Amino acid sequence: MSSQRVLRALASATDTKRIVIGRDVLQAAGEVFAETVGGAGTAVVVADETTWRLAGPAVAASLRAHGVDLADPLVFPSRPPVYAGYENVSRVRERLRSTGAAACSIGSGTISDLTKLASGELARPYVHVCTAASMDGYAAFGAAITKDGFKITRTCPAPAGIVADLDVMATAPGRMLANGYADLIEKYPGGADWIVADALGIEAIDPEAWNLVQGPLDEAMSRPQALAAGDPDAFEALVVEIMLSGLAIQAHQSSRPGSGAGHNFSHQWEMEGYGLDWPLPLSHGAKVGLGAIAIAAVYDAVIDADFSAVDPDAVVEGWPTPEQNEARVRALQDIPAIADAAVAQSDGKYIPRGQVREHVLAIQRVWPGLRARLREQVPTAARTRDMLRAAGAVHHPAQVGISLDKLRRTYYQAQTIRSRYTVLDVLFATGLLHSVVDSLFEPGGFWAEEAVPDGGHRTLSAHRPTIERNEEVTR
Ligand SMILES: [Zn+2]
Repeated sequence: MSSQRVLRALASATDTKRIVIGRDVLQAAGEVFAETVGGAGTAVVVADETTWRLAGPAVAASLRAHGVDLADPLVFPSRPPVYAGYENVSRVRERLRSTGAAACSIGSGTISDLTKLASGELARPYVHVCTAASMDGYAAFGAAITKDGFKITRTCPAPAGIVADLDVMATAPGRMLANGYADLIEKYPGGADWIVADALGIEAIDPEAWNLVQGPLDEAMSRPQALAAGDPDAFEALVVEIMLSGLAIQAHQSSRPGSGAGHNFSHQWEMEGYGLDWPLPLSHGAKVGLGAIAIAAVYDAVIDADFSAVDPDAVVEGWPTPEQNEARVRALQDIPAIADAAVAQSDGKYIPRGQVREHVLAIQRVWPGLRARLREQVPTAARTRDMLRAAGAVHHPAQVGISLDKLRRTYYQAQTIRSRYTVLDVLFATGLLHSVVDSLFEPGGFWAEEAVPDGGHRTLSAHRPTIERNEEVTR
């Protein structure tokens, strides 16, 4: 059944023609490559030492068996783990260019992103073989790459083919699986953000993309304990959701189906480079999971809020000019290049003073009718935290060295660094952003009452251990 969902999703994908998910399916790599990239061609296998050891020989044999010529593989060292930096994209691209080959990459987030961007720059299709359920970007277009110290997502096509061998992926450290779970849990508050934007006439829900992500989400997320304990069915459901989420982003040509305000917490910390220089870099999923709790706490606070008490005229009166808004956005960032990027994004959703009154009235009009749907969509912050904990994922900022002060500032940054409309924009537009964020950190508020988990700081050290097998973690 789950594989039928993936097949249906492939019908509307623009880049990806074939996905094979199953046990013991590495030998499908050659067939997938021949079918989606071309059997008469040449392939370069791109991997790191760990992923090469796991799957390299089997994938190479399968490619050869389907008539694909093999150039020398490009195998990055595993210690320290390969970095998703632009210099490594250049290495992949130059190897592909000099050999005239298409890539068959083997790895998780970093190898996937390096190969995706390198292949995209040469406009060559490629095939990816997944080695961990650590994030949902395999089938998405776009790669998160650091250049000149900043990690940003660059647009580039998704792979033409994907092989997800469940046996291979299950050998990844449990932490990587927890990271994938945490990347997916943000689909709950992220979906709520889309519901809100849709209701306000800002960004309509695309039912097909919505159903791809939200349809099987509960199935993938409802058994975190089983997942952490190695249950194969729970694991397959998670991998299927990872693929569907990427395909939805591909079909919608935007990350809206898979990313709301909670993802912005991760983007902010990623742009700052927070944790990227750790021996085992802080993962995308760990940051996203914290963002999901953070935004779930906002929904807890505002679903029942009475926006009718807001005076639209007072909001208009105090509305920032574009210049004031730019100054506000800049004041939230310490690094000028991030400030520039945030200003550009905030300009993209700035509401002119003349339209503010109508916008506030629209929020007042639609909100009561949204409450039931939002309550159903978003697990509470406490429940989100419990699910993450049960999956073995990071569930308190102290576990990764993020102070409550830093977290609090990130709420404001998260409102400004993407043009995408979210619940944080509802609060900004109604003048309630500060009071709601403050309330979460004051006595009785979610973060004020949230105890640092027992051994929380041990979890931090667990993020910086010696490199394990099948390790490759940046995203
Ligand atoms: Zn993500």
